This record gives sequence, C-alpha cells and structure tokens, in this order.
Amino acid sequence: MIDLATNANARYADIALPVPLRQSFTYRLGPTLASRASIGSRVIVPFGKRLLTGYVLDLFDSIRSESDVDPSKLKPVREVLDDEPLLTKEIVELAKWTADYYLSFIGEVLRASLPAGLSRKGEEHFSITARGRDSLSGVLLPRYDREHLLTLLEQRESVSAKELAKTFGPSASKILRALSNEQLVSATHLVPGSGPQPKRRKIVRLLKENGQTSNDKPLTDVQARVLETLLNAGGEMGYVELLERADVGASPINTLAKRGRLEVTIDEVLRDPIGDNDLPTLNDFVLTIEQQNALNAIGNSIDQDEYKAFLLHGVTGSGKTEVYIRAMQMALDRGQSSLMLVPEIALTPMFSRRLRAVFGSDVAILHSSLSAGERFDEWRRIRRGDARIAIGTRSAVFAPLKDLGLVVVDEEHDASYRQHESPFYHARDVAVMRANLANATVVLGSATPALETFYNAKRGKYEYLRLARRIGERSLATAELIDMRQVFKKSGKDIAFSPQLLKAIDETWSNGEQSMILLNRRGFSQFVLCRTCGETIKCVNCDITLTYHKRERKLVCHYCNYQIDPPNRCPVCTSEYLYFVGQGTEKLEDELRRHFPRLRIARIDRDTITKRRDMERILTDFSRGDLDMLVGTQMIAKGHDFPNVTLVGVVSVDLGLGLPDFRSAERTFQLLTQVSGRAGRGERAGRVLIQTYYPEHYALRHAREQDYEAFYQEEIRYREKMGYPPFFALASILVRHSDLSVATDNARKIRRTLDSANASNICRILGPAPASLSRLKGEHRLQILIKSPNRKVLREMLDLGLSSAEKAGTDMRLVHTEIDPINLM
Ligand code: ADP
Ligand code: ZN
Ligand code: ZN
Repeated sequence: MIDLATNANARYADIALPVPLRQSFTYRLGPTLASRASIGSRVIVPFGKRLLTGYVLDLFDSIRSESDVDPSKLKPVREVLDDEPLLTKEIVELAKWTADYYLSFIGEVLRASLPAGLSRKGEEHFSITARGRDSLSGVLLPRYDREHLLTLLEQRESVSAKELAKTFGPSASKILRALSNEQLVSATHLVPGSGPQPKRRKIVRLLKENGQTSNDKPLTDVQARVLETLLNAGGEMGYVELLERADVGASPINTLAKRGRLEVTIDEVLRDPIGDNDLPTLNDFVLTIEQQNALNAIGNSIDQDEYKAFLLHGVTGSGKTEVYIRAMQMALDRGQSSLMLVPEIALTPMFSRRLRAVFGSDVAILHSSLSAGERFDEWRRIRRGDARIAIGTRSAVFAPLKDLGLVVVDEEHDASYRQHESPFYHARDVAVMRANLANATVVLGSATPALETFYNAKRGKYEYLRLARRIGERSLATAELIDMRQVFKKSGKDIAFSPQLLKAIDETWSNGEQSMILLNRRGFSQFVLCRTCGETIKCVNCDITLTYHKRERKLVCHYCNYQIDPPNRCPVCTSEYLYFVGQGTEKLEDELRRHFPRLRIARIDRDTITKRRDMERILTDFSRGDLDMLVGTQMIAKGHDFPNVTLVGVVSVDLGLGLPDFRSAERTFQLLTQVSGRAGRGERAGRVLIQTYYPEHYALRHAREQDYEAFYQEEIRYREKMGYPPFFALASILVRHSDLSVATDNARKIRRTLDSANASNICRILGPAPASLSRLKGEHRLQILIKSPNRKVLREMLDLGLSSAEKAGTDMRLVHTEIDPINLM
C-alpha cells in the first residue's frame, strides 16, 4: 500500500464514517473524483441502503494482496464535497490517536472535531436533464406518475429523494431509477442547507464620484440623493442601509449601476463573536520575577521546536494568564500558531476582549455558546491561516491550526475537559498528545493541579514551574471551618445555616459588601453520615462512600457491589444520630430569602441558567452592585473576579465529600481553593466559611491552610494504597437496558468474557454493580470497573474481552466503555 496525500492516480480511499463501529472502510475512487479527493476531504458514500458523509483518512493506489478486501466488491465514492479538505492531515492523525486511545469511533471523533452542522448526512437530490425537458414537450396533462414526477422536477431546481418519496410513495425510487437510466433526470448529493453557511452582505460602491461627464444624462433628485449618501459614507455602504438612509427604492440604484456610477457586489463577511466595542486598554506591566522565570523557560522551549511539557502551578491571582499571553506572543513572533484551551465557564467576555486587544484579528474564539454561524466563521479563519491563535473550550483541541508552536491548557484540572458522551475524550490529554505530534511546547496551568498532573511533574515527565505569590502581595482569604456537629448538638435539630454563617451574611450586607453562597449540586444519591463523629459509611474494599438504595433498603458500593443493611448506630462511634444526606438542597435558597427578605439574591446553576445571556446578565448586575448575594452551585466558584465580594459561604461541603467517587476529596479540595480565591480580591480582606460535619477531613484541613503540597501527600498515599490513578489505569464499562434482568444478564456475560481475557490476572475486575446513577431515563445501569497497574495490559484485555462479547451477540450499542473515566456515575 502506498500512501498519498493527494494523487490523481489513487484508486482507493480509506474512509471514516459516523457509525458506531471501531473501523474504517475502503471505497473505490473514480478518476474524476480521485483528482479532487485528498486526506481530510469529506465525501458521500453508500453505506447499506443509506448515503453517509465520511472523511478520507488515506488514499492508496493498490490493495495489498494479503488483506481480506476484495477490490471487485468495493463500492464507489459518490461525491467529494470539498476541494479544499476541511481537516488537515495533522488533525486526521490526532483523531486516529484519540479514537484508538479512548476505544471510540474515528468517525465520531472527526465529527466532534468539526464545527456543528458540517457533517450532516448527505442527501440525494434529483433534477431534470435537458433530455427530460424535451420528453415532456407535448405532454399537456401528466397522466402517469413518471410524468408527474418529471413535471415537478421541471418546475423546481432540484428535489430531494426524501420529498419525492413522500409525494409518490414507495414506487418513487423505482421510477427515479428508470428515469435516470434513460438520462431524463440526474442525481446530485447535497449537504442540507440548514448547516452553517458563510454570511454574505450586499455592498454598494461609488465608482465615479467626481460630478457628471458631458454625455451623462442629468441626475434625478432621487439619484442625486443616492450618490450623496454614498459619498458621505466614504464611498461604500451596505445595500440595505443605503435604501434606508437615502430613503429610496431599488430602481435608482439599479439605474446608476447600469450607467457605471456605482457597483453592487456581494461580499462575504465574517461574524465576529467579540465585536470591537470597548476593547480594554493594554496594561503594560513589568512581569514579576516568578512570571519572568516561567516565561523564560517556556520561551526557550518554544525556540527548541521540540515537544516539551510544563506544569505551571500558580495560586489564584498569581498572573498565569499574563504568562500565557506573552508566551503566545513569542510563538507568533516566530511565525508559529498557538492553541489555548479554557474550561467551559472561564471564557468570559472580559477575557475574550482582552485577547482581542492584544492580538487583534489574529485570535479566533471557539466557544460552545457561540452561534453555529459564528463558530463556523471562526473555524474557517483558523483553517485558512488568517487566525494564528485559537482559544476555545474542549473541542477546540482539534482546531486546524498549522505550524503549532504552543499549546496552553488553563485550569487543566477542570472536569469540563472531559467529554461526557461518545467520543469520551479528555481534552487536556489530547492536547498533550497534539503538542507531542506537532513538536510543540505544552503548558498545563492550575492553582490546584490534577493529582495525575502533579504526579507527572514530580516524576519529571513535566517540568514544574511555580508561581507562589499573588500579584501585588494581596493576601488570600482566611477560611474557617464551622463544625456542624456542635451546631447540631446545641440546637438538637437539622439546621441548614449555622448561626455563624447567618451572622456573617448580615454583617457583610451591613458593610455594603457582597457575599457568595455555594450550595453543592443536589445529591442524586443518598448516603449515611454520622452527626456525632462526622464519618460516612464506606465500602470495606474500595474506601468509597456507600450509596443508599431506598427501595431495597441497602447500602451499596457501586464499584464492587458490596452490600450491607443500613446500621442503626454509627459503626465508628456508636452514636444513633445517623443522617441520610443527599436531599432537599434546592430548598436552601428559599430559606435564605426568608432569613434575609431585604437582600437582593440571584441564583446561578444549571437548572436556572440555560442561556449564556442570562448568566452574563446576572454576573453584570452582581458586579455593578445591583445584587447583594449570589447563590449557586460550583458554577459560581470559577474564574469570576468581583472585588466587592468579602464573604464566601460553603453550605454543604459534605455532599461533595460523600460522593461515591475516589476523586471526591480531590474535587472538594479544588473547589474550596477556588472559592477562597473568590473572596477578597479587592482591597478588603475576605472571609470563607465552610460548614461541615467532618472538619478533621484532610481535604478540608489543607484547603483551609491553602496547602496543596500537604494535600497531595495524603491523597497520593490513599491512591497508592487503594489502587487508583495515577498508580493504576482505570476503565469503566457501563451496561444499560430498560429491563433490569437483560441489563444484569448482559453485564454478567461481559464480566465473564473479561475474566477469560484476563488470564494473566494482572487486571482487577470489579462488579457488575449498580452504577451510582442506577436508573436514568427509564434505563437500568450497571457498571464494571477495571483496574490495571499496566495500561497496555488493560488495553489488550479490553480489546479481547469486548470483541468476544460482541461475537457472543451482546448488543454493543448498550455498552459504553470509558478509558480513564473521571466521573464514575
Ligand atoms: P491567575 O490567572 O493566575 O488567577 P491573573 O492572570 O488573572 O491570575 O492575574 C491576576 C491579576 O493581576 C489580573 O488583574 C492581572 O491583570 C494582574 N497582573 C498580572 N500580572 C501582573 C503584573 N506583572 N503586574 C501587575 N499586575 C499583574
Ligand atoms: Zn459516628
Ligand atoms: Zn466496594
């Protein structure tokens, strides 16, 4: 097999299709199409009875004789959709790696890599040929279906096969086949027009602005007004605006165009998600010594043109963003492009404007809440090389930048980098691989690095850069832990808000300052906590919190399926005050309003905020001081900078600690560090109050001290002892079905095939156990967890086990496999 990037002699193409199959497909290429196809082109191909849009992965001119492909049975590519391939060769390589690493489907990865709407199914359209028109002459009233059909086509430019099938019923396809055999109609493939299209604008331009020449007819008043309006606008304006401003109809413009006084053209305009209004002025600060050292290291690496990875560990407010921006400038100065990934929530309008102020039109923004059109335009600017810096959320890791010099992943620990549906990739890890493939430098930045990342830095896989000080020596807020066991003991009843927190809210408001109250996400699972000692009841095997299943009245481990009856007394301290946590947090906001009827309170969480603009409005109101308090879930903890916020209250931190997930301590530590960074960003000192039944927990103690290193030391010991990442590689397999017995059956079958594939016994297989979300959308969900000290062995075991499950007839559409799962739900 000889690979060719483009080659008019290529006779075969390897094509990825958006189907849930772990393979690509070979098609034949006719000579005309061969001259247009290249790696990365979109094509239309027949697949079973359907037509699908696929992507060319490879072109070659002969089929290897030992391969099991029979060239004579190959179907032809029907159409090449792009003369310029949408995907670069580099992105095709990256997508291949991603699909392989995450055991996902290459077609799905490629689709996820493109702006939405470009990979819809190709639809077959028919139009009438000249011969078809001739055949109709003489037919006055169509009598037969075929005449009806031709008459319909005669009146319209083209009609989709779908519409024809609706009108003419099942016989339509037969008629169409006959008509196209007689060459009365022809077929084309169109990608439906509902996907994003370039935006066009009609423009009027003045050609001769200097008075009349002698042979010109005198101008009418209306015509004179048109020319004058144009002249005042600098000789060029939009057609529609001209009609409005000169208060004229279309005809004087047409007349003037005919006489050569002006021209009307259609220009492509790019939608700009930022706009140029109120760009901030550039601050030209001198970098701190820490910032300068970090920048020097990154800059040296960029100059080497070799892969290198850095962890930039900087406390909140230490000026990481400034380091990223200057490093991107360095890459740009060398003629190289940069990619910067940010979490879902962090790309605030402020930040985008800042980048636009620094880099002008060199920066393109790919953000999930842009309109499809805006995203499409930004993506094309990158593809053409007009924008050399791309900033965006998760899927921007596939932005088609060329000559990549630098990749930045900000807040690299953030869970939003994980795609939660197929393909389940982790954008941070794909970003590192992308830098690797491109011989580029990658910088992972965070105040609370993911445990895996810090571990890699400790082992020297990443070079460690530290920003230990906040800019301007502003101090971090002091955090206090409020012991809810004491509160419970005093009041004897279930209280959501401690007297200390209520008092602090009142004081803050009286001082004319603002507060933020963080409620954990409503618990979807219940667990048992002791109100006397603060312990939760955990699995003896896995050391994760047991989940309470109401119907069966059982406490269940959803990693290994260990089950016990709920005890009457705390197993640790024998207290009888056991507390079934996990319900009712949605009422907390009402309670706050009752306590503080005069406070202006707004709530932000995924249930109340569905649109970008709602969120922006509330944040703007809050920063203007039109609101006194912001109540919300994790969403309010990230990224925002409100100088007047002096109090942050964390109401139910135990909910987060009790999540049945080995990362619950890490998540809680990250969250608390982040909220502490929110308080006291301005001149005044900030306070952080954290309510908990378990103030001895190491995540809480170290978060209070803002001591990442101490937290890491304890957490890494727990991971090693219990066999979790980074010491063991994990995979999870979720099996779902509306019928519990079918789901259980399938899950047991898969477990058995995995056991046989695990002959060496290197992998540890747990379950099937009910997933932590054991029922979702009417389906039962079971989970199998696999741990392995060796990633390669894990992968080989999975390949073998899953393929034999498939061969044994398991419906793999109901089975989701995740590599490095980060939410074991
Ligand atoms: P981080 O991303 O580490 O949380 P930022 O990059 O947001 O921190 O920086 C915090 C603040 O300090 C920002 O307002 C930024 O403009 C400012 N800043 C950054 N570097 C400097 C500097 N060298 N001198 C003065 N101000 C700076
Ligand atoms: Zn107890
Ligand atoms: Zn267990």
